[in-house]
Amino acid sequence: MNTRREFIQKISGSAIALSVLPGYLPAACTTLPNEAYNGPVLKVAILGLGNYANRVADAMVSCKKAKLTGVISGTPSKIKAWQTKFNIPEKNCYNYENYDAIKDNPDIDAVYVITPNALHSEEVIRVAKAGKQAICEKPMAINVKEGEEMIEACKKANVKLLVGYRMHFEPHTLEIIRLRNAGEFGKIKFFQGLSGFIIGDPNQWRLNPKLSGGGSMMDIGIYSVNGSRYMTGEDPIWVNAVETKNDPVKFVQGIDETIQFQLGFPSGAVASCLSTYSMNWLDRFFLDGTEGFAELYPATGYDPTQGRTNKGPLDFPFIPHQTIQMDEMAAIILEGKKPVLPVDGEEALKDLKIIEGIYKSAQSGRTVNLKL
Ligand code: NAD
Repeated sequence: MNTRREFIQKISGSAIALSVLPGYLPAACTTLPNEAYNGPVLKVAILGLGNYANRVADAMVSCKKAKLTGVISGTPSKIKAWQTKFNIPEKNCYNYENYDAIKDNPDIDAVYVITPNALHSEEVIRVAKAGKQAICEKPMAINVKEGEEMIEACKKANVKLLVGYRMHFEPHTLEIIRLRNAGEFGKIKFFQGLSGFIIGDPNQWRLNPKLSGGGSMMDIGIYSVNGSRYMTGEDPIWVNAVETKNDPVKFVQGIDETIQFQLGFPSGAVASCLSTYSMNWLDRFFLDGTEGFAELYPATGYDPTQGRTNKGPLDFPFIPHQTIQMDEMAAIILEGKKPVLPVDGEEALKDLKIIEGIYKSAQSGRTVNLKL
């Protein structure tokens, strides 16, 4: 498949066929080979060169509107390897001590923070103070207060703050939202979100509350929290939650192993979700309405998303999520494009408010009212 037209023809021949209009295709389809792009390009430095940063950098090679131009890392050997792999000049390489100097570097428009959760807030604020656009991984911070400070700092510096919600640009997900908005599922009554995996190495930062800010909920449960909002199209007004801990040695105080939580929405719709670090195969969203249903499974993993509705399967060609995300984020920053689903700091702050409510409910055993 080489061209946009062939791409459109392919999906036109699929089960969702007639419901998909070319104008609806995400801008990331600009990443299709053979389609020239001569517009502005967002020059991005990545801060923190770990596992996910590698995935993002590899995916960005296929971007048209975003380009990796710099790195910030505390490990000189990683910087060298990235310089070679991605052709990054020495003058665009920084460490954690000197990266405020990006301020004077015209080769860097934006910095993508991909470090452990507890570091996001300080790093985003430094990026903002350097006058650069900030992109930050999820969760945006480890509590609401930090999230608010990040939003404030970016406003003050007149830069954007975007959070790495890659599923907000994923075609199957966006198609379900389009169908829901068109009334295809009738009145939405219920959402189920299952998010979990068995976590390995007990010594990793994800199991250290000082660096992670929490356990499965901060890391993977946040997908069900966020998904409950974009799938139903509403923000919850209450939450109740129950925590289960079977391995208190691996999952120390401050690290939740498994949490089941319910959310209530203004329309009367409800959600039932599971977040866990001790079960595999949990990556499923289910949306139920009076006239139909939608399912995503896998819903948020890196591999091709699969979706269906009561009318049949959804079938979009696979583009790595991070390629679409970074092209779309470039369009938001450079062209002022308004995404179907927001990815700004305010959007991410809502998830932190819900997560704080979940923890509060799990601790108190009471239903917690939410004001997002
Ligand atoms: P990782 O451990 O692989 O990488 C973290 C990087 O941060 C490493 O390069 C490490 O050297 C660096 N670092 C800097 N200061 C550190 C410190 N004080 N302690 C530990 N490491 C430090 O982790 P990861 O899986 O790449 O996750 C990084 C962030 O990306 C997290 O916020 C995570 O939630 C997020 N993430 C998002 C997705 C997604 O799909 N959106 C997927 C994975 C991770």
